[in-house]
Amino acid sequence: MTVYEEALQANAAYASSFNLAGLAMPPAKQLAVVACIDARLNVEPMLGLRPGDAHVIRNAGGLVTDDALRSLIISHKLLGTETFFVIEHTDCGMLTFKDEQLQQRLKEETGQDANSIPFYAFSNVEENLLGQLKKIRRSPFLPASIDLHGFVYDVQTGKLSEVVQPEEEVMAEYANPDALVPTDWVAENMKDPKVRLIEVDVDTAAYDTGHIPGAVGWNWKNDLETQLQRDIADKEGLERLLSKAGVDKDTTIILYGDNNNWFAAYALWVLEYYGVDAKLMNGGRKKWIDEGRELSTDAPSYSPSKASAKGPKKDLRALRDQVMDHLDKVKKGRGALVDVRSPREYSGELLAPENLPQEGSQRGGHIPGAQNIVWSQAVNEDGTFKTADQLAELYQSQGVTPDKDVIAYCRIGERSAHTWFVLTHLLGYKNVRNYDGSWTEWGSLVGAPVEK
Ligand code: ZN
Repeated sequence: MTVYEEALQANAAYASSFNLAGLAMPPAKQLAVVACIDARLNVEPMLGLRPGDAHVIRNAGGLVTDDALRSLIISHKLLGTETFFVIEHTDCGMLTFKDEQLQQRLKEETGQDANSIPFYAFSNVEENLLGQLKKIRRSPFLPASIDLHGFVYDVQTGKLSEVVQPEEEVMAEYANPDALVPTDWVAENMKDPKVRLIEVDVDTAAYDTGHIPGAVGWNWKNDLETQLQRDIADKEGLERLLSKAGVDKDTTIILYGDNNNWFAAYALWVLEYYGVDAKLMNGGRKKWIDEGRELSTDAPSYSPSKASAKGPKKDLRALRDQVMDHLDKVKKGRGALVDVRSPREYSGELLAPENLPQEGSQRGGHIPGAQNIVWSQAVNEDGTFKTADQLAELYQSQGVTPDKDVIAYCRIGERSAHTWFVLTHLLGYKNVRNYDGSWTEWGSLVGAPVEK
């Protein structure tokens, strides 16, 4: 029997007991896979997939070519896939030749010029794979929300190994790579007297349960706000705080905290407002703890320093009248408003995050013209920030572009400080202000326009 005859016989048997007629067209697992054509890659059983579960797009190398992108766009836009895998493998045929060799051979055998056909042969699987993931991330037609993973399949063991871009490479691609440090860096430098760690948490009791050795704890309520009237700390208050932490002009300040650095980002924003540079620890308190790193319950004390603040840099902050004036700019497409709260706060159903008391404003809803881009979309599960490509896609796809004057807000200004940090330091936007009055102010302001 020829291969052809065998195949037809097999199909007759298959059809005689066929029971998949009821499958729906959209993949049940909302998954699309790009994989190499290699005959040893049995994609469905390798991933526990059954008929109807996933789109499997195959080409030599498992490359995200224009045609693979075409399939992925159709897969996502028309058939609802939300997770993409790219699977390359060990011992790939693509490692065994060079484009020029194949092009030359084709020319010799056919007399036709094959130089215009790229075959995309490569020499390093991991590196190539990361490049393919980037092509998906950089496609303007595929959103940043796609859960994207790249794997190398081992043809000897059947195991998949996920390949992720090293953190330092991700960080190097940010507009201001100096604004962040990885936990590794902190572990190596935490005893350096020129480095001062400062923990700022939403849960003000967290610091006392254990913090990075040597870290000072700031309480956002008592330390970063004025107590009599509602305002951020004044310059003198901030100088006292820095002096008590032993910070002078030569100190590198590293901020970190819980909830993905919400209040650490807020503290960074307040410091920058007063002309004091600081950096965030990528991933915050959670990542440090998840990595099993050292914690201490000793509250350190430092000899008071001469700390001096400057400014304020008023262009980092939006006050309510400026937000009111901004509405017209938003309408005309020259400005953007980013509401970083959860969709249920944006819609007016809730007045505060679900787990917090529903208080703080008289009305629910959002400022007219605001885009709802939730702060958490900017971070990975481990708390680190997403890549520059992912972040650019996230904001730009919703009209928050670098040419615009941007104001971010939330409920009390800390989650929006997180987004302010992303737009300013990671993406390099020049005109971003944090509206710290945020919804507690706007939602109680007599006569202020509200959209639901
Ligand atoms: Zn291959």
